[in-house]
Amino acid sequence: MKIMSINCGSSSLKFKLFEMPEEKVITEGQFERIGFKEMGLYKIKANGLKEETELQLKDHSVAVETLLKDLIDKKIINSLDEIKGVGHRIVQGGKYFDKSCLVDEDVKKKIEELIDLAPLHNRPHLIGINAFEAHLPNIKQTVVFDTAFHQTMKEECFMYAVPYRWYKEYGIRKYGAHGTSHQYVANEYARLTGKNIEDLKLITCHIGNGASITAIDGGKCVDTSMGLTPLEGIPMGTRSGNIDPTVVSYICEKEGKDAKTVVNELNKISGYLGVSCYSNDARDLEEKYHEGDKLSRLALEIQDKRIVDYIGSYYFLLGRVDAIIFTAGIGENSSEMRKRVVDRLGVIGAKIDDIENAKRGFAHRISSKDSKVDLWAIPTNEELVIARDTLKLITE
Ligand code: ADP
Repeated sequence: MKIMSINCGSSSLKFKLFEMPEEKVITEGQFERIGFKEMGLYKIKANGLKEETELQLKDHSVAVETLLKDLIDKKIINSLDEIKGVGHRIVQGGKYFDKSCLVDEDVKKKIEELIDLAPLHNRPHLIGINAFEAHLPNIKQTVVFDTAFHQTMKEECFMYAVPYRWYKEYGIRKYGAHGTSHQYVANEYARLTGKNIEDLKLITCHIGNGASITAIDGGKCVDTSMGLTPLEGIPMGTRSGNIDPTVVSYICEKEGKDAKTVVNELNKISGYLGVSCYSNDARDLEEKYHEGDKLSRLALEIQDKRIVDYIGSYYFLLGRVDAIIFTAGIGENSSEMRKRVVDRLGVIGAKIDDIENAKRGFAHRISSKDSKVDLWAIPTNEELVIARDTLKLITE
């Protein structure tokens, strides 16, 4: 049975078509620059070939129409009826969703209600759901939430120490993000090591352009570094991570800006980019660091330090840690970042194996034999989780 996994951003639509339950990827690709005046871009990988086409993409509906037509034209499928389910990644599920579910009018209403908390994400997600509904009216659709896995956090972890009324009236609290990824790599670790997830205390580090760290006890999230929005936590490609909120009013005053503008700058021009004054890309910063560039080095070191702050705090929260797992673009690929971070973890007896750590592209142990903590790099696969959850929900 064919199942499509979809991730709609404000100007993009990423897709992966799976043959399930075999979990085989049939085709994948993405649309970029949707809704732009200039030409959009459509990339697809199929039958061993990569293709790129420039075309006008007025909205997400045009992208969906283009994709479905191309799947037939390329003979990837013979008929649209072959697609039995479409699963969507949804960034913000608020307090409503602690697991994936089938789409109905009530679910759509709740996702819409949560737009305020994630305007750049939930709005395009809904547009994507509606676009598939328009082109495949009989298809079963599902939604898989980035926040769902974090719904098991206790109040003391998800509440901010702010007037309680803000929580009651506006839902101000930590929701976290990247939940699908944290849950996936934790389960993969248990599967690969033949251990029971219920016995494990894990710290998962999803370090990509966006980055978050999660403490997991017995397969359940106990705390995570992202907050009401993905701005909280460790510094990222362009996000500052935690700062004293007074910085916002101070910069507003100094530069005659409003809070929204400054928060946007904390999201878009801070983190690696802000500190290095050079790039938001880890590869660029690592290259510059080796050339002796002080600010690139500082940008990386601030992040390393904050990752270790979280690992330390979660170690205490969990009371012990069986494994630390690195994933996402930087976590999976940057042996340098892993080495820099683990070198700061000597106090908990974590030691890296330099030869294993130099490898990448597959799930493997990177700790040395005498390490007191198991260390792993595990590629994440959020699209596969979406396809698995969709298969389960549409066949139940
Ligand atoms: P997103 O949050 O956008 O999904 P990714 O998980 O794709 O981000 O991560 C992107 C980051 O991964 C970039 O900073 C990129 O430099 C980094 N990255 C990718 N490959 C490597 C590599 N070989 N070495 C170091 N960093 C890498």
